[in-house]
Amino acid sequence: MANKKGSLSINSENIFPIIKKWLYSDHDIFLRELVSNACDAITKLRKLDMIGEFEEPEGNQYKVEVIVSPETKTIQVVDNGLGMTADEVEEYINQIAFSGATDFLDKYKDKTNEDQIIGHFGLGFYSAFMVADKVTIKTRSYKEDAVPVYWECDGGTEFSMADGDKEDRGTEITLYLSEDSAEFANEYRVKEILNKYCAFMPEEIYFTNVDAVEPEIEEPEVNEDGEAEGEIAEKAAPAPINDTVPLWAKHPNECSDDDYKEFYRKVFMDFKEPLFWIHLNMDYPFNLKGILYFPQINYEYESIEGTIKLYNNQVFIADNIKEVIPEFLMLLKGVIDCPDLPLNVSRSALQNDGFVKKISDYITKKVADKLSGMCKVDKENYEKYWDDISPFIKFGCLKDEKFNKKMKNFILFKNLEQKYVTLPEYLEAAKDQNENTVFYVTDETVQSQYINMFKEQGMDAVYLTHNIDNAFITHLEGANQDVKFLRIDANVADSLKEEADEEEIKSMTEKLSEVFKKAVGMDNLQVAVEKFKNASVSAMITLSEDARRIQEMMKMYNMEGMDPAMFGATGGETLVLNGNNKLVQYVLENPEGEHSELIAAHIYDLAQLSNKPMDAESMTKFIARSNEILGLLI
Ligand code: ADP
Ligand code: MG
Repeated sequence: MANKKGSLSINSENIFPIIKKWLYSDHDIFLRELVSNACDAITKLRKLDMIGEFEEPEGNQYKVEVIVSPETKTIQVVDNGLGMTADEVEEYINQIAFSGATDFLDKYKDKTNEDQIIGHFGLGFYSAFMVADKVTIKTRSYKEDAVPVYWECDGGTEFSMADGDKEDRGTEITLYLSEDSAEFANEYRVKEILNKYCAFMPEEIYFTNVDAVEPEIEEPEVNEDGEAEGEIAEKAAPAPINDTVPLWAKHPNECSDDDYKEFYRKVFMDFKEPLFWIHLNMDYPFNLKGILYFPQINYEYESIEGTIKLYNNQVFIADNIKEVIPEFLMLLKGVIDCPDLPLNVSRSALQNDGFVKKISDYITKKVADKLSGMCKVDKENYEKYWDDISPFIKFGCLKDEKFNKKMKNFILFKNLEQKYVTLPEYLEAAKDQNENTVFYVTDETVQSQYINMFKEQGMDAVYLTHNIDNAFITHLEGANQDVKFLRIDANVADSLKEEADEEEIKSMTEKLSEVFKKAVGMDNLQVAVEKFKNASVSAMITLSEDARRIQEMMKMYNMEGMDPAMFGATGGETLVLNGNNKLVQYVLENPEGEHSELIAAHIYDLAQLSNKPMDAESMTKFIARSNEILGLLI
């Protein structure tokens, strides 16, 4: 072949600065592109072997080599795949890649948002110019009598092509790294990139640093007979950096629990064992494989954050692509490999792609099926995991209507007996005492006084202690119009109190209100009187459910300084005195009594104490008064 020079320009525009600009954020993907091309070249040759177009020579070991030289600032990707003839270089490198570039330019020249680019445009090979000043290709086709080719391009618009001298089959691509990309000849940096993108590519990949100093192997001592003493240190055979058959690609029947756990540890660096996992494996109507893990959640951290790694034919694409993976599933940790995914488009195009929506729906459905199936056939484990997985499930129900539909009958509530019940079960049990009301506990310690009173009367409540429960309660009330959720301190439940004469209560309230307002020193103190079945409790604080929810909402949106009344809620806190209690009766009968004020102030503090932790000032007063009261006993 005569030396050939040609021009790569498309419409006289130089694409390389554009490649650099657009792919700026992800420079390291060049290695993924080159190594995946090398794997493709080998996979193609394997196929040719299978159909008899090529016969694999004996002793052949297919492999991709990544070779760095920090001294010369080069990185090479070498494969012994099918190679290219001069015509093929012309077609696949000189022309095809540039038609890809033309498409790319057409699509993106008006866009200024870099985030819209997924970093994969069929511009694979040319991404080398993001980091290299000069790229050379030495290649020799598997075809008999193929003439090797040498190709070179310096990142301008010119390339040159000539007969080459490559002796063995395959392709060797050399990047002469630019000044500001020298890091890509650094051993650790390159290993890190290989680990990120190439850890599961389908052909063996070996890494070499040609400038690294080899650790010296000691020569064995030779004895008089000329025999080597001791073991001759054998050089360990180099190991590939990747796992060519990742666990997700295997059939679930072939994978043991230990396999799943080890894969999880390795990929997510999480040394806490996952709770359980779902192996996705489908061929029709599209190809999708993957493993989703439910991680152990550490409650110390407020938010749960997972990682879903997306692969395309074992080539890593990115973490947490929200267009493909439903948002709530990103709380999990997992891998998804979808060879059919159209990646040659921008993310915004992905979003509108019906196919992508189907993938996302499929994954959601699988997760819901697994969870509901577990609840049906393995209730014991489902209950065991419930506390850990419920935030995830509730979040899913809030975010995804389809998931909600499938899961809504499998939501559990832990009750005061520490048993798990469903909403219908709870409502059925509470029907006679408090119809359609679900009492809930958010803090077992602080609300213990209320819990005890409930237990005494044989009433039940459920624990809803997670951040997400606020939103979830609202969601459940929306879905079950008759049902109302009340925190256990929201009012004095009907079944805790006796029927009482309205007039009597009214006059008691008036009298007591005056004494207590004065004793506590609060003019706006809300006072109510009820006759509790349990006479030993003097008073309780109740906090109106609506007012409290508004306050919590304000807290969430950082509006604490504002007046809840603006949102239609009044103060909400009421001191409910027990008309059956001796101390209250004493104050009622002796409003001017010597100790009445002392007793009233103390009753108020005790009620506060069993509702929420006291602030420092109130606590100081409370302790001083307690001492004063003890003093009266001597
Ligand atoms: P894509 O991989 O999406 O086809 P690339 O720009 O990465 O796009 O590569 C263009 C073409 O160049 C490939 O389809 C292939 O035909 C050829 N090619 C690239 N690298 C190699 C290689 N190492 N061995 C053989 N052919 C290659
Ligand atoms: Mg490619």
